[in-house]
Amino acid sequence: MQRITILGATGSIGVSTLDVLARHPERYSVYALSAHSRVEELAAQCAQFKPARAVVGTAAAAAQLQALLQAQGLRTEVEYGEAALCAIASAAETDTVMAAIVGAAGLAPTLAAARAGKKVLLANKEALVMSGQLFMDAVHESGAVLLPIDSEHNAIFQCLPQHYSRVPGASGVTKILLTASGGPFLKRAVETLDTVTPDEACKHPKWSMGRKISVDSATMMNKGLEVIEAHWLFGASAEQIEVVIHPQSVVHSMVSYNDGSVLAELGNPDMRTPIAHALAYPERIASGVAQLDLAQVGTLQFERPDFVQFPCLALAFDALKAGGTAPALLNAANEVAVAAFLDGRIGFRQIDRVIAKVMDELPHGAAASIAAVMEQDGLARAAAERFIASLRAQ
Ligand code: NAD
Ligand code: MG
Repeated sequence: MQRITILGATGSIGVSTLDVLARHPERYSVYALSAHSRVEELAAQCAQFKPARAVVGTAAAAAQLQALLQAQGLRTEVEYGEAALCAIASAAETDTVMAAIVGAAGLAPTLAAARAGKKVLLANKEALVMSGQLFMDAVHESGAVLLPIDSEHNAIFQCLPQHYSRVPGASGVTKILLTASGGPFLKRAVETLDTVTPDEACKHPKWSMGRKISVDSATMMNKGLEVIEAHWLFGASAEQIEVVIHPQSVVHSMVSYNDGSVLAELGNPDMRTPIAHALAYPERIASGVAQLDLAQVGTLQFERPDFVQFPCLALAFDALKAGGTAPALLNAANEVAVAAFLDGRIGFRQIDRVIAKVMDELPHGAAASIAAVMEQDGLARAAAERFIASLRAQ
């Protein structure tokens, strides 16, 4: 029996994870669940999965959850705050941690799981982007098992040799081909994007996801973050990672080898496939996802990305090449800019301007410690807010 902690249980990935777990009660039990503010959803999840512990964001949310659980006679222990998240991620009673909090808020608990040597199922790509070297060091020092949930990285993992050493050339790997749907604005003229609304940006043609990652898909910053994620997971340089636009989202990514072979993982676009793969690895379990009907898909298309249409992609490659804390600056500026766009404070095409301004303005340093990374994260957030305020004053 694997005992699972889900960080971010009420989100899109969290809900898909519980859907897969519910199909295999003989293999998995839920040790702990967390949510930030959706207390009623979390209470319903507690009623169904009976975790020992549940963590929310604030004391008020904890009191509300406690009352809801008591009314149902449930004995789940309720806690709140970052220390409690780290505790459920590293507790001796849990084997596997699904890291599915969105953004930098997930870094501390995800790192706690890695340091505690857990099986870490990584959806929270921002944690790895911010602290790549430190995170991978923690994984290696503790003997944690890191399995990618991001569909592209999970596909790449499946296409790499079983004992891959994170040295591409050593296994004959020449390129990681990261597929991208191109998001909802792939075919839109750039000049028409000034007035798009948050709801339009979140209407992804193929995937149903949380709002932050949906906006990231529309700007293609999501792919940029994934390039950096692939660098850390697979030891590939910026030159060894190629982004390929593939609007059908059926090929989830590919690996090119020096003999001319290209291996791909295909399937319907549904996150329950990578979640089930990582949960059961190295075995396989049913995920509830329908089998792919290639004849019905009919056509698979591929094209090169346009770095002018999608400046965020270029900014992410620049941050990866710059190294150090540059990806942490990029990530923080992006989180602030996306939140401002979702709140209606800036336009869609101002997102990349905010990030570029922060990257220009702030010198990056060595990512020597988590404290150094978090300091840069704070500086980038403040610089992004200042620039957003100046844009609004214009
Ligand atoms: P979501 O917005 O649907 O859910 C986010 C979860 O994080 C919620 O449970 C929320 O309660 C929690 N949360 C939010 N802010 C928090 C905070 N400050 N402190 C603690 N918890 C907080 O997001 P999602 O789409 O499920 O994405 C989660 C992560 O998985 C992201 O890093 C995203 O990039 C990654 N991911 C998602 C998908 C997808 O299909 N949704 C695919 C690949 C990767
Ligand atoms: Mg992805």
